[in-house]
Amino acid sequence: MAQQAIDILKETFGFESFRGDQAEVIDMVVNGGNGLVLMPTGGGKSLCYQIPSIIRDGVGIVVSPLISLMQDQVSALKLNGVKAAFLNSTLEREEAYEIECAMKKGKLDLVYVAPERALRPGFLNLLKQTPLAMFAIDEAHCVSQWGHDFRPEYIQLSVLQEKFPDVPRLALTATADDITRKEIREKLFLEDAKMFVASFDRPNIRYRIALKSSPHPQLLRFLKSEHPKSSGIIYRLSRKMTESTTEFLNRNGFTALTYHAGMDAADRAENQRRFLEEEGIIVVATVAFGMGIDKPDVRFVAHLDLPKSVESYYQETGRAGRDGEKADAWMVYGLGDVVLLRKMLGDSTAGAGHKRVEGQRLTSLMGLCETTKCRRQVLLKYFGEELAEPCGNCDTCLEEVETFDGTVAAQKALSCVFRTGQKFGVGHLIDVLHGEETEKVLSFEHDQVSTFGIGLDISSNEWKSIYRQLTAAGLLDVDVSGYGGLKLTPESKPVLKGNQEVFFRKDPVATKTARTKAKKSKTTWTSDDPIVTELWEELRAVRAEVAKEHNIPPFYIFHDATLKEMIEIFPQTTDAMLEIGGVGESKLARYGDRFLSVLQNHKETHGKPELNITA
Ligand code: ADP
Ligand code: ZN
Repeated sequence: MAQQAIDILKETFGFESFRGDQAEVIDMVVNGGNGLVLMPTGGGKSLCYQIPSIIRDGVGIVVSPLISLMQDQVSALKLNGVKAAFLNSTLEREEAYEIECAMKKGKLDLVYVAPERALRPGFLNLLKQTPLAMFAIDEAHCVSQWGHDFRPEYIQLSVLQEKFPDVPRLALTATADDITRKEIREKLFLEDAKMFVASFDRPNIRYRIALKSSPHPQLLRFLKSEHPKSSGIIYRLSRKMTESTTEFLNRNGFTALTYHAGMDAADRAENQRRFLEEEGIIVVATVAFGMGIDKPDVRFVAHLDLPKSVESYYQETGRAGRDGEKADAWMVYGLGDVVLLRKMLGDSTAGAGHKRVEGQRLTSLMGLCETTKCRRQVLLKYFGEELAEPCGNCDTCLEEVETFDGTVAAQKALSCVFRTGQKFGVGHLIDVLHGEETEKVLSFEHDQVSTFGIGLDISSNEWKSIYRQLTAAGLLDVDVSGYGGLKLTPESKPVLKGNQEVFFRKDPVATKTARTKAKKSKTTWTSDDPIVTELWEELRAVRAEVAKEHNIPPFYIFHDATLKEMIEIFPQTTDAMLEIGGVGESKLARYGDRFLSVLQNHKETHGKPELNITA
């Protein structure tokens, strides 16, 4: 590895060491190679092209589909003393002209540009006259016609290869699946490119999936006990639900904002802006809230409804903890969710093949929800990755899941479905099993069937759990042609005949949020001392102030981790300040002294903070 890259990492970006494949990718591009980088969100893709662009002669061109993101990135780079600019429709003609002149003279390190602009003849012409360091194609999965984020202009980016065959090209994406990888290679003419696949594990995220009883109170308990002041995202299935959850949270003292595709573009943009720039905001959103949310300090992602697939779950939860600090992925789900999603799929106008694939995806997700094994192992396995040991940072690792032999109960449950005609929902089925003479039971003469009253030994909640798990395991299916009742599947037969054993997980009795055996995280200290809290709030206030002056979100000034380290190391000189992770020369020169004086004042009045160092 060239010393130069390491120096830039430390001096310009203020980081100690490279992460994962970063060093290797940078080395390769610096030496003129092409590459395809697959790294999860927050993995550190940006440095892979920023550093080579600085090192190599000429200008690095970054094609990025998100205008707001490129503006933030450029502001952040400038704060680090990097010569960066962007060209997009928000610029005045004169500003653009100046940048173009600087490009031709090779006076810039990096220029960000939107794909549609990159393709214009005028721009290609400009590139011909510009000394070029490299091309970076960010969010490269936008080339995939099968994906959600397809952008037709991306396909035409192959023109870069035709016109500039000697300039190294790097495509980057966080989308893991195999089909997309192949498409990127083909469409962007990157067949010869070296591929870098990072682990998709996000060890700082704690995965928890609990049973849904009453979602709003459950959410409130979770937030109050674990995230009273955090920024976070809450996903809901429908627009109406996002609104009701937002209202609920605001009534309970949180600052929540709604985000869905049915809103006015301006309101949406405003809510997104507030989420990025202010602290402690919760966004309650549908899946419309997604790509381009480059906020590293999202402390939790909560799902009050099931996502569509394991891939969606991974992408959505992946928006938590991009800064590497500990973060929570918290979900509640129940049989109602499965019934609803299966029904939506059944009602959709998609073709049979598509429905089958979506159905399988949902089944995989149910598998993740109902697993008694480590969730992270199951999750990574879905992406073809083996995690040798259980992770110790998911609910199934933290609290052992009890299982029980439910073969007889399963037989009774399935048989009751069969005897009542395979079209009733769980409520009615349980009434029959419990021998309740309800109006409905009597009117269908279900007091006459052989399963009437054979399930009194098992409580309603336990029967619900059994039906949910049978459905998740594919032993029951939702009858989408009727009212969403349950019906048997081919897999039910061996169980009904007594040829197959069934094990169930015991649902926890109470849904108290468990905080057991916390695994050590990157956070190195805790404190209950109000004086420490005050110092923390002061540092955050200075950060907010500086951010406001620069008109960028606070985390571009310093990450939470950096502020935490300041409290731990408690530097009192500029030299000592440089030792803090995330503090580079440029940031130090620009506004480091303002943080330093907070620390110095604190020392004068209170001395060094007393912390419980936990790692
Ligand atoms: P991606 O584009 O892959 O989602 P980014 O490039 O935005 O991720 O990086 C995620 C975060 O990690 C950023 O805040 C960045 O500053 C930080 N980061 C990246 N590389 C390093 C490193 N080598 N050391 C410390 N922090 C890093
Ligand atoms: Zn685990």
